[in-house]
Amino acid sequence: MKRIGPHVHITGGVQNAPLNARSVGATAFGLFTKNQRRWDAKPISSDIIKQFRSNMESEGYLPEHALVHDSYLINIGHPQKEARQKSYNALVDELKRCSQLGLVYLNIHPGSHLNQISEEQCLDNIAQSINRALDETSGVTIVLENTAGQGSNVGYRFEHIASIIDKVNDKSRIGFCIDTCHTYAAGYDIRDFESYCKTMKELDSIIGFQYLRGAHLNDSKTGVGSKVDRHQSIGKGELGFETFSYIMNDPRFEEIPLILETIDETLWPEEIVQLYKMVNKDSAGCGKQVLQ
Ligand SMILES: [Zn+2]
Ligand SMILES: [Zn+2]
Repeated sequence: MKRIGPHVHITGGVQNAPLNARSVGATAFGLFTKNQRRWDAKPISSDIIKQFRSNMESEGYLPEHALVHDSYLINIGHPQKEARQKSYNALVDELKRCSQLGLVYLNIHPGSHLNQISEEQCLDNIAQSINRALDETSGVTIVLENTAGQGSNVGYRFEHIASIIDKVNDKSRIGFCIDTCHTYAAGYDIRDFESYCKTMKELDSIIGFQYLRGAHLNDSKTGVGSKVDRHQSIGKGELGFETFSYIMNDPRFEEIPLILETIDETLWPEEIVQLYKMVNKDSAGCGKQVLQ
């Protein structure tokens, strides 16, 4: 089945995330394990860890249905060595927090070249940082999110994601997450069936669906190729409902966390219901044709 849910709040503590997800009818959820706009965080206490794990179990969520998002400050592609090391340390901390909570996926933004180095060099820095971080930790997979290409962010072309994965030594602990808003803003059309299938075919041949570990379902306020990252509620932006119905009928998106990062949280319960209503067993999803 499809697993859907919002990126939930952790007000009052990370242990509340599974409860918050359940309260909106989610079958998956996204979360931060710390304040995403700060470098430091207190270590998670053993008591909180225990509560989190017990809430996961009581609310019926498996570790692979939770997609942790890293801090917005981290840039492991940073042109300067010292700043890159600071980001690297923060990434390792994020990986360790995931593993303490019993979670298996850490979604990260690849990084930014800050107009000081080439995209190629930035992608190389990212891959080297990931290799070190995977060596230093265990059990958690790094999930690269494609970006809208805003500012000097890399990761807006499928080739960028593929090039990082290619350089990562442990392929069992690297994957990617496709954000629909970012994909569209980066210049890949997914508004109608034909363009959706074409984009997904391109994604499959360049990165490979075998590395897909999650998706962010967001409509977009800005146009195709705008390179501006502005999320909108499902069906209320440039993409419209159709795009999401293609995903809901695409078997390649089964059993992975499909996370809503939509802007109006009062709509989350409704968005989940709307998405499930789009599932149509008779639909000729392009992913179905591929798998046949
Ligand atoms: Zn993100
Ligand atoms: Zn996203």
